[in-house]
Amino acid sequence: MRYVSTRGRAPAIGFIDTVLAGLAPDGGLYVPEEWPQLTEGEIAAFAGRPYAEVAAEILSRFAGDELARETVEDICAEAYATFTHAATVPLKQLAPDLFLAELFHGPSLAFKDVAMQLLARLYDHILTAQNRTQTILCATSGDTGGAAAEAFRGRAHTRVVAMFPDGRISEVQRRFMTTTGEDNIRCVAVAGDFDDCQAILKTALADQSLRQSVGLSAVNSINFARVVAQCVYYFTTAVALGAPGRPITFVVPSGNFGDAFAGYMALKMGLPIARIVVATNSNDILARTFQTGRYVRGITQPTSSPAMDIQSASNFERLYYEAARRDGVETARAFQAFAENGAVDIPPKAFEAMGETFTGVAIGEDDVARTILSTYNETGELIDPHTAVAVAAAHRLRADLAGPMVALSTAHAAKFPEAVEAAARVAPAMPPAAQPLAAKTERFDHLPADAEAVKTYVRDFAEGV
Ligand SMILES: *Cc1c(COP(=O)(O)O)cnc(C)c1O
Repeated sequence: MRYVSTRGRAPAIGFIDTVLAGLAPDGGLYVPEEWPQLTEGEIAAFAGRPYAEVAAEILSRFAGDELARETVEDICAEAYATFTHAATVPLKQLAPDLFLAELFHGPSLAFKDVAMQLLARLYDHILTAQNRTQTILCATSGDTGGAAAEAFRGRAHTRVVAMFPDGRISEVQRRFMTTTGEDNIRCVAVAGDFDDCQAILKTALADQSLRQSVGLSAVNSINFARVVAQCVYYFTTAVALGAPGRPITFVVPSGNFGDAFAGYMALKMGLPIARIVVATNSNDILARTFQTGRYVRGITQPTSSPAMDIQSASNFERLYYEAARRDGVETARAFQAFAENGAVDIPPKAFEAMGETFTGVAIGEDDVARTILSTYNETGELIDPHTAVAVAAAHRLRADLAGPMVALSTAHAAKFPEAVEAAARVAPAMPPAAQPLAAKTERFDHLPADAEAVKTYVRDFAEGV
């Protein structure tokens, strides 16, 4: 399997190089030359199989002959053994036709673990074989940093620098990344918002000399292996509810569009998905885009679901490329225009193609709080604010959409205790495995929202200064 850039001006490369590269050298994102196809029979056969086995089945389609089947199976088995629920991603029923897929049973209590646990082991395997060390720079809106710290802690071939927007993430989110006590993990509070962090990351990755000297790489959801890992639960969940015989609607609380794009990948691979509902908080760039056909950056507002406080959704470029019939020149034009003006008009045909699969819904803060309370009252379930965005969107669309809906539950309520308690007047209990977190010592540095300052910090770390 070969991978090409969405901007059409980078050479096609293999799976391992795609995983290590993150962003393509022409500024685009990697996508496979063609989507692997699963037959109805193959999809139906996922029913009742352990999650790690389905993950290995799907990952091996993307890795092709670059990774031995046995290696892929071992990586998946180990990655999902870190989850505390035997089903890995269990389903919970909220209403006759509404389900939650709980993606938060990993070590940092957020769905980022699903991909990061797998990615860290992939890196370990690849870098050990190549006998090199890489520096992973990551920009986190709250959960990626903790998931990366948990997944890469103590690994010999990787250093991690996690940038987070100072004061914009919850204490529990921060503690997951700042308390590992491991020398290969560094955390940086950036004086800016998540979009600043993400812009710094892009600038650093575009610096070829830095890239080479420290072996720079990214594990943000622009990394293709992450979205591969995420398409697995669309399969397991849909099959548990009757797919491929019955199309399922997924409601995805969205920020950077990695999760929703993973659903689109599952669809492209043959899974019958009725609709993918892209649910945002009041940072509604994606919801507006699917409603109006204009992709326009707004001003990032802090909300109770900080992992989605994003006004520039990196993975949207992958969908744009697909909807524009894989026209790299058009995709490059659009995203250069977006970088310069903060706005892009989607060509009518591409917008129409997006509309066949996606619906956008934005949920305000009042509705999030009301949904946390009503879900608790009606079902006894305490849901976190990100999950509540999806559940609120599901309720809003339920009258118009037939068939089962699955809202993706992306974080444990105990990761956002203040918001949950304020809404439901009940404090969510921290799962036993995460309880020692509160007593551990934090370690992190502060930097201005300046790419040069971050680049120097990364260089010093890699050189052991
Ligand atoms: C990252 C994250 C999201 C958003 O996922 P995207 O792939 O960025 O759209 C939603 N909820 C939680 C809890 C997250 O950590």
